[in-house]
Amino acid sequence: MVAALKDKLGRTIEYLRLSVTDRCNLRCVYCRSEDDCPKARELPPPAFERIARAFAHLGGKKIRVTGGEPLMRRDLEEIIERIARIPSYRDISMTTNGHGAARRIAGLKNAGLMRLNFSLDSLKPEKYAAITGGGNINEVFEGIDRALEAGLTPIKTNTVLVRGENDLEIDDFIELARLRPIEVRFIELMPIGKFGEDASKHIPSDELVAARKHLKMLPQEAAQPAVTYGIDGYAGKIGFIRAVSHRFCDTCNRIRVTSDGIVKTCLGDNSETSLLPALRQDDSTLIRVLEEAIYQKHSGHHFDDGYQSRRNMNRIGG
Ligand code: SAM
Repeated sequence: MVAALKDKLGRTIEYLRLSVTDRCNLRCVYCRSEDDCPKARELPPPAFERIARAFAHLGGKKIRVTGGEPLMRRDLEEIIERIARIPSYRDISMTTNGHGAARRIAGLKNAGLMRLNFSLDSLKPEKYAAITGGGNINEVFEGIDRALEAGLTPIKTNTVLVRGENDLEIDDFIELARLRPIEVRFIELMPIGKFGEDASKHIPSDELVAARKHLKMLPQEAAQPAVTYGIDGYAGKIGFIRAVSHRFCDTCNRIRVTSDGIVKTCLGDNSETSLLPALRQDDSTLIRVLEEAIYQKHSGHHFDDGYQSRRNMNRIGG
């Protein structure tokens, strides 16, 4: 049994969000800036496996593959398969925009993927295309349907709420959970990138919950950022990720590693540690560098004090 790894504030760190690419086939307004041209700075599958093994050695139990868009990588199944060989990971999930997902669901499941989150920012095809810079909403729903059939559950949808863009669709999103056993989640817009720095676009989750008395708070799972609600007679659940209006930094259990091998221990802080020199050395060096970076994990995000992120979300791994 591996001992739990604690940072200098005593928080147990066991969740890794691993970005496998900074490329994306979409350009969501809140995520990538106009002038962002990813340079495909990507590690090969064996390097991701080494990082995942080092994290497992330190007590890692949970891993989410993200990006950019992970499906942009042709060798994604190999990356997942290598991670799934590591016995410590009891939860291997992925966040995707769903484009091209349907035909790869079986292969991803065979590789060891356990569950999926789909980003979905509007239910109106034209609006969806506008927010995502050309996305096709049918691709998302086909992906969700195939993933449900394959049992890659629980499936969650992620909607970044932006005032003036998709806030009038909230009740339509909630309706998705009436018949489908999915968790429909609303994410507060984070001040990452130019778009998110505009305070007039932010919507605090409490405002939405207060206006919907039929939402019944469910027992909350430990170390989950989403506050979840049920509705009588609905198959699915509703979740709110309130990272901006309610900080959960003191229970944060995660770190991020970017597709080019940089550790970011906090989404709302610009400190970074490169794993590249350690990746050129043996596993014990890699473990030591990762352990030190985790120990120094930043105490909390700076979203409420004029934070300006040096990277857009596609270059961090959301
Ligand atoms: N391409 C995949 C996707 O679309 O889900 C994975 C990467 S995307 C960067 C991961 C998540 O980050 C998405 O759910 C997206 O909505 C979220 N995200 C990106 N920028 C954000 C922002 N400024 N505020 C809040 N969430 C954001």
